[in-house]
Formats: sequence, structure tokens, C-alpha cells
Amino acid sequence: MNNSYDNKNIFSKILRSEIDCEKILENEHALAFLDINPQAPIHILIIPKNKYIDFYDFTQNGSAQEIKYFWELVNDVIKNKNISDSGFRLITNSGKDGNQDVPHFHVHLLGGKNLGRMIN
Ligand code: 5GP
Repeated sequence: MNNSYDNKNIFSKILRSEIDCEKILENEHALAFLDINPQAPIHILIIPKNKYIDFYDFTQNGSAQEIKYFWELVNDVIKNKNISDSGFRLITNSGKDGNQDVPHFHVHLLGGKNLGRMIN
């Protein structure tokens, strides 16, 4: 585990069931739930269940199984929302320059409309 992981971040509270979320799907190593402030008709967050700060931490330190289960869940949510044909966008913000607000690795899955070339 990364020593600088902040156990008080909001997603770690969701994982400990200290606060609620609107769950979409989960598997052994990952959880998908609705973003509280959606930026598109479909805006789902996918997070690993273990403590990783950001994409770099997860890909450097996550086990092969955790990484596999994480991307499988992303794929399952895409299937569940039936957006493989219409398309979608995956975003992961990291650190200061990426404007990451919650320091627990997460991927935003956005879709349900044409998202334009980029999100500002
Ligand atoms: P970041 O800027 O870190 O990439 O994105 C954090 C995301 O978490 C934001 O899109 C924000 O709306 C979402 N968020 C913040 N607090 C909560 C919460 O308590 N519950 C849920 N479901 N989403 C949250």
C-alpha cells in the first residue's frame, strides 16, 4: 500500500459503507457507482476496492488480478449501459495538473450523448 494514501477520502468512506453511493455493479476487486454531480446523461465512476491513489499508483502497485478485474468491470458497465455502439469517454484525472479531487484512483465513464471533442 502507498503510505501517503488518505483514508479519509470520500471514496474510501464509500468502500467502508460510511457513506452511501448508487451502486451500478461490482466484482471482487472493483466497484462502479453513479457520480454525484453528473457531467453527462451517463456518468459512472469505477474504483478499485484496495487503496490506490491514482492511475500511476494502481498500474505500478496493483496486482495483475486487481488490474484485470478493474478493466473487466469497466467493460461490464459499458455492456450494462448498452453504450458499446454509441460510444463513450473514459477519463482519469491524476494529481495537481490533472485536477484530481478525490485521491483514490477512479475512472470516469461518460456517455449517453455526443460529448464534443473534449470536456473543458
Ligand atoms: P476527480 O476530480 O477526482 O477526477 O473526480 C471526483 C468525482 O467524484 C467528481 O466527478 C465528483 O462529482 C465525484 N464525487 C465527489 N464526492 C462524491 C460523493 O460523495 N459521491 C459520489 N458518488 N461522487 C462524488
